[in-house]
This record gives sequence, structure tokens and C-alpha cells, in this order.
Amino acid sequence: MPLTALDIYKILPKTNCGECAFPTCLAFAMQLATKKVAIDACPYASDDAKATLAGAAAPPIRLVSVGPTEQCIVMGKETVLFRHEETFYHPTAIAVRIRTDRSPEELRAAFERVKALQFDRVGQYVRVELVAIEDATGEPERFASAAALAAEMGLALVLMGSSTDALSAAASAVKQHRPLLYAATAENWEAMAQLAKGCGCPLAVRGKNLDELADLTARIAASGVTDLVVDSGARTPAATLQDLTQIRRLALRKTFRPLGYPAMAFATAGEPLDQVAQAAAYVCKYAALVVTDELEPWQALALVTARQNIYTDPQKPIQVEAGIHTVGAPDETSPVLVTTNFSLTYFTVEADTEASRTPAWVVVVNTEGMSVMTAWAADKFNAESIAKAIGESQVAERVGHRRIVIPGGIAALSGKLEELCGWQILVGPRESAGIPAFMRTQWKQASAAASS
Ligand code: SF4
Repeated sequence: MPLTALDIYKILPKTNCGECAFPTCLAFAMQLATKKVAIDACPYASDDAKATLAGAAAPPIRLVSVGPTEQCIVMGKETVLFRHEETFYHPTAIAVRIRTDRSPEELRAAFERVKALQFDRVGQYVRVELVAIEDATGEPERFASAAALAAEMGLALVLMGSSTDALSAAASAVKQHRPLLYAATAENWEAMAQLAKGCGCPLAVRGKNLDELADLTARIAASGVTDLVVDSGARTPAATLQDLTQIRRLALRKTFRPLGYPAMAFATAGEPLDQVAQAAAYVCKYAALVVTDELEPWQALALVTARQNIYTDPQKPIQVEAGIHTVGAPDETSPVLVTTNFSLTYFTVEADTEASRTPAWVVVVNTEGMSVMTAWAADKFNAESIAKAIGESQVAERVGHRRIVIPGGIAALSGKLEELCGWQILVGPRESAGIPAFMRTQWKQASAAASS
């Protein structure tokens, strides 16, 4: 919980000396509570007071990064239980578990398959981020060379050692890649904390239940290792969801520091499709990292799509750049279409125009990410904004005709738009699925009429 002005006043010197530029300690405390000043402005504040304030200012869920600095995966620092309260900030990282009981060639092929799990979806690049290498044979050297191979191939790593020795060997081989070390338990936490500290890597902590987990993280943090990821040890979907929810609630609602870390979950039981369903549930509530077994590309796409939807800020819809876009290689005779900059709208129009096999120019109007009808209702997609976008796009310099196709839903704007921009307005289909038929018929007829 944030400290109140009164809480802060209690830990200040209470001498009212005024050296902080405020007449009293209480006045200074009130400024501190609203973060308008820093504690350093009081030369007499004790170290304890500074530590208390620093602790209170720390985020309720720690930010932890895994992987090399230039392409690290960031987890945690979430601030709400429900997305509509604010937003979710750091998308759940997805790791594919690969066991080491395979030949080097098979391992390389498996890592290649994980690397290939990347997609371009509504203009965003989405992917599976990590490989979780599980030491299945208990051979430290084999484990270390599998880790080195994956790191060399550019994969971020979770190292799941069968022993502290195995983990130590693998961590030494790839520590510059900052792998997540899995896992400290009640039996080995001291050695694991030492290992994590020595190689500067984040550490996963696994308890048998939340009580044991909280006890372990408190001990490990006290030993100086604070980049932790927590695993409650639950492995059934119901228990996992319950623990993930409890961890998030305790961290945010009670500021319970021992569980104020990003949480991980395993969706490695059952058939691949069950794993995808489980993983998607954990993405929704509230895993920062989910481990699955190997996924087919279509299974991974379903998972990263679910994640993309959950981690898109509902107040900031995914948008494409306003201006002129092309479909295929349009020329001066190609049609000019108008649409909004809401990604889903734009990419649907783009795909349906591609399907029509008619190269086209698309003028994208900045509607702040709203779809056609929503933007029209909100007066962001009106005759004025469309005319302005047509002018700014300079599409007139690229085509020899003056015909523009607007979405069928805004047919009512035709007259005013024609007046404003001086182009002939063709009313396109209400749904973009009708674009191929529109191009075959109305666009062809309008072009023929204009040239006759
Ligand atoms: Fe109080 Fe410190 Fe300000 Fe003096 S400098 S008034 S002790 S807060």
C-alpha cells in the first residue's frame, strides 16, 4: 500500500528546521506522499526512513528480465487485476520445453522449430519467445551443450536442471545470455541463490504451496537475489489458476512482497491442444511465463493470438499508419479505396482486396483506431476527415482518374464528400468480403463508363 502523508511524517525527524524548503516536516511529508519531492531534500532523514520510502515506492510486482539486454523478455510490474481497470503491460512470455534426451541434430531441429514460431498478425510481429531446456539425462555436459546450442541459435532460455551441478554447468556456459534458472526449492535454495548471484541470472523459485513459496522468496531475497520468478508448484489447471490468482491478488491488494514477483505456470500435461487451452487460460490469469511442450505452428498461432488480444490496451486499439497504402503493385488506373486505421479493419480490407486480384491504393484515415461504423458514429470518419486524408495522401498524383471507393456503411457521406474533394464517389460494399465482387462489377463498369 502506498504510504500516506501521516505515515511518512512519523518517520521524518519532526524538527521543522525548514532546510527542505518546506516550513514543517508535515508539509514536506505531504509533498513526498504525492511524489512531488524526493526524500533526499531532507538532509536529516535516517537510512531507515529512506529504506522505508524506497520499499513503499517499489512496484508491487517486480520487473524481471530474461535474456540478453538487447533482446530481453520483460515480465511483471503489472498493476491491476482486471484489464479494464488500466491495462496489462508485459505480455506473458511463452517457452517451449525441449528435453535433452535427443541427439544434437534432433535438438538443433527442435530449436529451429521453436524459432520458426513467429507470425505477422494485424501488422504486429508475435512469437514464441523462449525455449525451456529440460535436463532429461542428468548429464551436466550434455545439458550445458544443449543450452549453448540454443543460445548460439539466438533463443532466450529457461534452464531446467535436474541438479544444482547440471544447472551450474549450463549457466556457466550461457550466463551472458541471462537465462532463467529453474528452480530453487526448499531443498536447494541456498546453493541456487548463490549460483544465480554468481552468474547474474534471474532465478525461478518453486514451492510446494504458496506458504512455502513465500517463505522461500523471503529467504532468497534476504540473501541478495531479487530477480525472481515464482512457481507455486501446482500442475493441474484448477490449482494453477487458483494459485496464479492468489499470487496476483496478494501482490496487488495486500502488497505482499514475498509473492510480488512475476509468476510462471506449466501447461505441459495432456495432448498439445489441451496444453494450448491451459496455456491460454494462464495467459488470461495471470502468468508472466507459460511453459508448454512443442507446438505446431497453428497451435502456437492460436496461443499468441489469445495473448495479443489480452495484452492489447482496449483504450488504444491496434492501429496502422494513416496515409496511403498499396495492395499489389497499383498504377494510375488502379482503384482508390478509403478505410480507417483500425488494424483489424485495414487488414481485412487489404486481404479482401488482394483476393480480388485488383492492385489498389488504400487511403487510410486516422480515426484513432476505430472501425468504420464506430468512427462514423464518433464523427472521426466523416466527409471532412476523409477529404483531408485524400488531399494529404497525394493520391491524385498517382492515379489518372478521380474515383474513390468508400465503405458501404457510410454511403450517406457521398454527396458532401464529393463536394469537398471533387472526386466521384463510388459506394463500396458494406462488408469488405464484398470487395472482389465489387471490383468485378461496379469498379469495372465505372472505369468503362469514364473512358467511353
Ligand atoms: Fe523536517 Fe527534514 Fe524538512 Fe527539516 S529538512 S523540516 S527535518 S523534513
